[in-house]
Amino acid sequence: MNHSGNRHWRRGLLALLLAVLGGHSWAQHAWGTYHWARTANPFTLQVGDNMSADWKTYLALSTQDWNNPTAFAASSTPLTVKVVGGRSSKRTCSMVTGTTQVCNGKYGFNGWLGLASINISGGSHITQGSAKMNDSYFNLATYNNPFEKRHVVCQEVAHTFGLDHQSEDGSSLNTCMDYFSNTGGNAGNPASTTPNAHDFEELTLIYAHLDSTTTLAAGSSSASAADIDISDDPRSWGVLVRQSANGRSSVYERENRNGSKTVTHVYWTPEAALRCRACDHRFEVHSQP
Ligand SMILES: [Zn+2]
Ligand SMILES: [Zn+2]
Repeated sequence: MNHSGNRHWRRGLLALLLAVLGGHSWAQHAWGTYHWARTANPFTLQVGDNMSADWKTYLALSTQDWNNPTAFAASSTPLTVKVVGGRSSKRTCSMVTGTTQVCNGKYGFNGWLGLASINISGGSHITQGSAKMNDSYFNLATYNNPFEKRHVVCQEVAHTFGLDHQSEDGSSLNTCMDYFSNTGGNAGNPASTTPNAHDFEELTLIYAHLDSTTTLAAGSSSASAADIDISDDPRSWGVLVRQSANGRSSVYERENRNGSKTVTHVYWTPEAALRCRACDHRFEVHSQP
């Protein structure tokens, strides 16, 4: 091998190492380049609370956490959450322009615990979001504990910030953006119920630039979006574009008539994932666990 060939080889090895080391925690921790457009940092995202009393507690705790980076050894955050009155209904959790709407309801034994959707315009700008927690499961003893509820609501709301998971293999990185399960023998384990420092680092990266326009609602004057919501029918999620190896995490995308795109992240139960990890779980028959 001549000198220049050797250099190329070493450069290739370095690139591979960087991909292996950096790929998991950095490159894949955002959904893509999805972010709210805004003209200044820090900015405020209105989160509409459509939740019942028990869930309001967990939503409040999680949003406090996302607003408090220094409690998690991070220096700052570009994104401040403001919980406001909900403008949707629990059942549909229809999106409202410029906001995230958060809902809980008995959505059925359909295999998912939590679901988050964002609508994207211009390729990367989030225009609205919604997050749903499925009480059909959360009312069962297995899931009905404070830590599991807090883990899921913390994660689903943060998907509407543009954040993705730090890990999907079930291990705990002590962030709600992982797939640790606070159930069974870990029902009393508070691990992974809050953000960690790396989530705030990632938010800072996602929001490092400024935009010339804003997609955030100011005040309460925004109008409801028309026909781009997803419905109870999981076919409305569009096509499956990504699924974790253990089958617990899936991302779906749908192209909309108005040129926007709706991206939906689904948090499957361990039972739904176990039967066939590579299957598209929305087309499987699920029953009460
Ligand atoms: Zn931008
Ligand atoms: Zn998720």
